[in-house]
Formats: sequence, C-alpha cells, structure tokens
Amino acid sequence: IGANLARIAEEFGEREALVDVQGGRRWTYSSFARAVEEVALGLLAKGVAKGDRVGIWAVNCPEWVLVQYATARIGAVMVTINPAYRVHELAYVLRQAGISVLISCTEYKTSDYRRMVEQVRSGCPALRDVVYIGDSTWDGLVRLGAGVAPERLAERESKLRCEDPVNIQYTSGTTGFPKGATLSHRNILNNGYWVGELLGYTQEDRVCLPVPYHHCFGMVMGNLAATSHGACTVIPAPTFDPTATLHAVERERCTSLYGVPTMFIAELNLPDFATYDLSSLRTGIMAGSPCPAEVMKRVVAEMHMDEVTICYGMTETSPVSTQTRRDDDLDRRTGTVGRVLPHLEIKLVDPDTGETVPRGEPGEVCTRGYSVMAGYWNDPERTAEVVDEAGWMHTGDLGVMDEEDYLRIVGRSKDMIIRGGENVYPREIEEFLHTHPKIADVQVVGVPDDEYGEEIMACVILRNPADILSRDELARYCRGRLAHYKVPRYLRIMESFPMTVSGKVRKVELREEGAALVE
Ligand code: ATP
Ligand code: MG
Repeated sequence: IGANLARIAEEFGEREALVDVQGGRRWTYSSFARAVEEVALGLLAKGVAKGDRVGIWAVNCPEWVLVQYATARIGAVMVTINPAYRVHELAYVLRQAGISVLISCTEYKTSDYRRMVEQVRSGCPALRDVVYIGDSTWDGLVRLGAGVAPERLAERESKLRCEDPVNIQYTSGTTGFPKGATLSHRNILNNGYWVGELLGYTQEDRVCLPVPYHHCFGMVMGNLAATSHGACTVIPAPTFDPTATLHAVERERCTSLYGVPTMFIAELNLPDFATYDLSSLRTGIMAGSPCPAEVMKRVVAEMHMDEVTICYGMTETSPVSTQTRRDDDLDRRTGTVGRVLPHLEIKLVDPDTGETVPRGEPGEVCTRGYSVMAGYWNDPERTAEVVDEAGWMHTGDLGVMDEEDYLRIVGRSKDMIIRGGENVYPREIEEFLHTHPKIADVQVVGVPDDEYGEEIMACVILRNPADILSRDELARYCRGRLAHYKVPRYLRIMESFPMTVSGKVRKVELREEGAALVE
C-alpha cells in the first residue's frame, strides 16, 4: 500500500487527493504523501513495531486517512473501530486485538470519545498511548516524527511483504457480535484497485464518501479505489447526513457517490432534493445490503448516476466479490449484483451437501481468491467455520446465478422465512412492496406462528407520515401479483428502522420486536 501511494504521488503530485468539506481543508497528492510520512515517522518514534496493532476510533475525517496510510507504511496493523461503539464494545476490541496505540477523536455531537477512552484505559494493559485527533497529542505525534530520520521508514518498508496483515476490521454486527477479519495489503489493495477499475476511475474523478471509513466500504471501495487511480476523495461530513452529502456533491463537482440503500433513500426523499445541482455525477456504488431496483432506477434517473454500480461482498472478502459493469443493461444493473470480479471465483452450493447447485436455483454463495481474509483475528475456530480447506469463504448469503453469470442475492440464510414448509425470501417481497406509492422503505421478517411455523411481517416507513396504510389495503395491493403465501400477514408502520452504524437494518431486532408484538 505504501509503494502504491508513492507511485501515485509521483505521477499525480499536484492533483487534488483529499478534500474535507466541512473543515475546509485540502491536500494534493504531494502534500498528502508528505502528511502521511509525518504521521508514519511519529508512530515510529512512539515505538510502533511491525505487526503492532494501532487502533483508530473516530468519525470520518482526513486524519483517519492519514493514519490508514501511515500504519500501512510502517507495517502496523490498523484496527478500525466503529465510532458508534460505546465503552463495553471499545474495551472488548482494545483487548481482543491487543491494541498498543489508539488514535481517537476528542468528541463529536453527543459522543465524548475522550471520556470513554479514559474510562476503559486502566482495564486495557496493552494500551500504552492514546492520541486525540485535533488536540495537542496529535501535534505532539507529528512533532515527535520530525526527530526521526526518514531512512528508518525506508528501512522498515523494505521488510514488508504483501501478505502482511494491514488491517483488522470488525464485521457490521448485523447478525450477531462483530468478528474481527484480518486483512492483508494484498487483500485490500487489489480489491480497491479492481473496484476503481470497474468504475472507470481516472485522475479526473472526485469521489464523495458519506459512508463510514471504519468499514471496507469507506476505506477500500472508497479511499483505496480512488487513490489507486489518482482520483480525489471528498469527505462531506464526519457522519452521514443527506443534506451535507448533496451539498458536497454540488460544491465539489463530484463524479461519484457512494451509499447503502437507506442513504440514497434519505437523499432522494429530502424535501429540497430537486434544488441540488447533481449534474457532475457519473457513477457510484450502492452496496452493503439488498439494493431495491426501484431505488436504483431513481438514482439513475434523478441523480444522473447513469453508470452507478451495485457491489456485493463482505468484510471477510476485503470486501467486494461481484460488481455490475458500467455497460450492463439497466435491468441487470438494477436487478442483480453483477458478475464476479477479475481474478476471483464464485460458486453456489447446497449448504447441506456442499454440492454446487444448478444455475437458476438458490444456493449459498462461496468466494475464493486473493480477497479472502487470512482469518478472524486470534480465532482459528470461527475461521474454520467459514473458510474451508480449499480456501472457499462460505458467506451465509443465498444467491441465484443466471445463464450469463450474473448473481442475484436472495437473502441471508438466517433471514429466510419458512412458512408452512415454503421457503420465502424477504427480499422478493421487499422488492415488490417498494413499488407501492405510499411506501418509502420496507423490511420483511418472519415472526413465529402456531399454524404455519412462521408468518410474514412487513415493517413499513411511509413516504408521507400523515398517510394511512392498512393491512387490508396492502393485501389488496399484493393480490394477484404475489403468491398468496408471500402476502404479509402483519403490517407494522414505523418511523425508522434499527440500524447498524454502517447503515444496515438490524433485521434480528425487527424479528425479535415483531415476535413480541404478535405474541
Ligand atoms: P455480521 O457478519 O457481523 O453479522 P454483516 O454481515 O452485515 O455483519 P458486513 O461484512 O459489513 O457485515 O456485510 C456483509 C453482508 O452484507 C453480506 O454477507 C450480505 O449479506 C450483505 N450485502 C452486502 N452487499 C450486498 C448486496 N449488494 N446485496 C445484498 N446483500 C448485500
Ligand atoms: Mg457477515
């Protein structure tokens, strides 16, 4: 990763590398590479050895990116910690990963990061040092680095290998407690490079990143994809804010915009959406959870993102395994997650027998290739549960492969509803309900039922909260257009869904709440 940055900085030195919209700060590739070096030298001065874990617990900011490259340059392993975590989870990660230096921010909105760090510090003996972005400890880090000879950095870099771990990244925790995937330089740099390649990135591109950096979506598909092609990264705000995002696109003339589906929905539904000039947009990525075709179509038509792509993947695979291509026709680009990335393999298997299923039939998606993680950090048992001896990552996602190698994700195996012996994929019903004019967003879950084993519940957010939508009206809408056993038995109107910080709906919670409601 360090060598790649050096190459890019030489080639694109005076082009813009990074923009912090709210902070009003800008870096060219030359100044960015210099700032990375300062931080890298500072960490060397602090005695960070190859393989040491450096944690980062902060909302999106330029320093985050400096730390990402600085740790890579000195062969440290950056542990990215979700800024929505609270003391209990923070302490768990600090201990589990054995973090010796933590870089955090002081505070943001109602989160007092410094206070939380100080609270857990004594319980984490490995933690030697804490640096807070934006205060004197950060300046101290840079000052300390100024006293270190750059040759020491070159010497350290000469010992690094692409297989070395560079990042421990915790999964989103959508289905349970997050797991720390250990990723190497080879894993993430290749993945970022190929995602950028398929988006057609060049030094002319300006990539708006409202997605969190602590997740692969921000740091690999976003930052590494942009940087490895000399494109510029634009940070609209420290955390997702639909208004700040559209404002950044307009002001910075961004060509690319990322988001999980709920973020795009929030942007499209802004009351003043039509007043933003989004004509600079060309492409972008929607990913992270099922991308409703209706939403994709609106993004193409109303946000000018003619070449927008869908990516599918998971933290454990660096993350992207499949992506739609720029020239795929609209139905493919909105209705599938595309084809496998170059140099990776995909197969769909029957989870019970392990046999590959025929095309057109659902099976568990398995991926193999350079992108598969080395393993969960310090957890060989859980690693062995998901990565088999032949190197296949078993994703726990169910998919269908068509005759031309396009993959459709039908859901997570854990989310599948079995109603009266029929397999029901929530995804299909969600796609259909998204076409209802009153519905802004919808999640479908299974709830226990004495007669059928499970029944179907639709959790709905209305476009206009003053509207009324009854279960009967919904059933009438479904009649004749959806098989009778897929029509939701229950309707729950909600104002928002429980979310992970990466913007994914926590279906587990909806399921549990739903079960309690029907009891
Ligand atoms: P955890 O593993 O902790 O429960 P998580 O699986 O949500 O959380 P991530 O690694 O961030 O953590 O997300 C990967 C998952 O997101 C995939 O396994 C898949 O279920 C879902 N996903 C990602 N992209 C898509 C997509 N384009 N369409 C449908 N689902 C997707
Ligand atoms: Mg997962």
